[in-house]
Amino acid sequence: MTATSTAPSATGLGSDRAVRRFEDVRELLPDAENPTPLVRVRRVVPPSAPPLYLKLEWLNPFGSIKDRTAAYLLADLEERGLLDGRELVEPSSGNTAIALAALAALAGTRLTVTIPDGVPEEKQILLRMLGAEVWPTPDDLCPVDNPKDGAIALARSLAASEGGRRYAMPDQYANPANVRAHYETTGPEIWRQTGGEVGTFVAGYGTCGTITGVARFLKEQDPSIRVVAVEPQPGHRLPGLKSFAEASVPEILDEGLIDDVVRVDDGPAYEMTTRLFREEGLMVGPSTGAIVHAAAGLDGRGPVVGVSPDGGTKYASYFAGLLGDEGLPTL
Ligand code: PMP
Repeated sequence: MTATSTAPSATGLGSDRAVRRFEDVRELLPDAENPTPLVRVRRVVPPSAPPLYLKLEWLNPFGSIKDRTAAYLLADLEERGLLDGRELVEPSSGNTAIALAALAALAGTRLTVTIPDGVPEEKQILLRMLGAEVWPTPDDLCPVDNPKDGAIALARSLAASEGGRRYAMPDQYANPANVRAHYETTGPEIWRQTGGEVGTFVAGYGTCGTITGVARFLKEQDPSIRVVAVEPQPGHRLPGLKSFAEASVPEILDEGLIDDVVRVDDGPAYEMTTRLFREEGLMVGPSTGAIVHAAAGLDGRGPVVGVSPDGGTKYASYFAGLLGDEGLPTL
C-alpha cells in the first residue's frame, strides 16, 4: 500500500494513519502496517472472563471484513486472465458484493449479485447505488438440496451461461483467495496487535474464509491458540452467518483448525448487539452480537480476539422492528 506521510500530529497522539493521506480509496485496504483497530470491550464481559478484544472490520473502506476478500478475489481473477472484458457475478449476503461492486466500479466493470433471502433492504440499496444489478434469490427459486444454497446455484448457472464468456465469478465459497486474504492480512494483524499473545480467536461460520485463514496463520505461530467458531441456528436472522444444518459446508472450510463450535440463537445475538451499542458505544451488526455473546461466555486462555465483521447502520430496518414504544428491545 502506498500512503503519503505528512507532518507528525501536533499533539503527538496521532497514529501514523491519522497523518497520512491517500491518493485512491483502495490504499485504505488493511494490511499488517495499516491494520483495522483492535478494541477492548469490558462492560459486556463478566469480570472473571479473560480480556476480550474486537477487531473492528467495519472501519474498512467499504464497510466490512469482506473488503479484504473482495480485493483478493479480484486480484486472483485478474491473475488468471478472467477479467478480460467480463462482468462479475457473485452470490453474497451483501458485504462481499458491496466491496466487489465498489472495486468493480473502480476497475470499470459491472457486478451482478444473487442475494439470498433475509438480506436487509439497506444493503440492497447500497448495492444499487454502487451500480450493481441485484437478483433477489428466494429460498425456493432454485432446485437445490439445501434451500439456503439457491443464491450460490443461481450465480454458478449465470457464470456458466453464454459459454462462460459473459461473466467471471469470484466464487468466495470455493476460491482459496478468500482464505489467503485472511491468512496474509487479518491473521498477521491480530498476531502483531496482541504482541503474539492471543490465546483464543472467535469468528463466525459464513463462507469460512475468515476463520480458516486466520486460524491457519495463528496456529502456525502457536499451535496452542484455541479457535472457536460461531454457528447460528436454522432459520436465523443473522446475515453473513450460515447454519450448516440448512446450508452446505463451504469447500474452503478446514474443519481441522476448529477447536469448538458455539451455536447461538438470534435472541441472545440481538440482545448482545443492543448491549454493544448501549454499553460499549459500538454500532455493530448482528453477527458481531452473536460472536461477542459466544466470546463473552468463554473461559480459558486470553486475550480473546473476536471479529466484528460489519457495522450496524446497514441493519437499521431490522433493529427498528426490535424496538418497542419505550425504545427498548422487545426480545
Ligand atoms: N458476518 C457478516 C456480517 C458477514 O458479512 C460475513 C461474511 N459472509 C461473516 C460474518 C462471515 O465471514 P466469512 O464469510 O469469512 O466466514
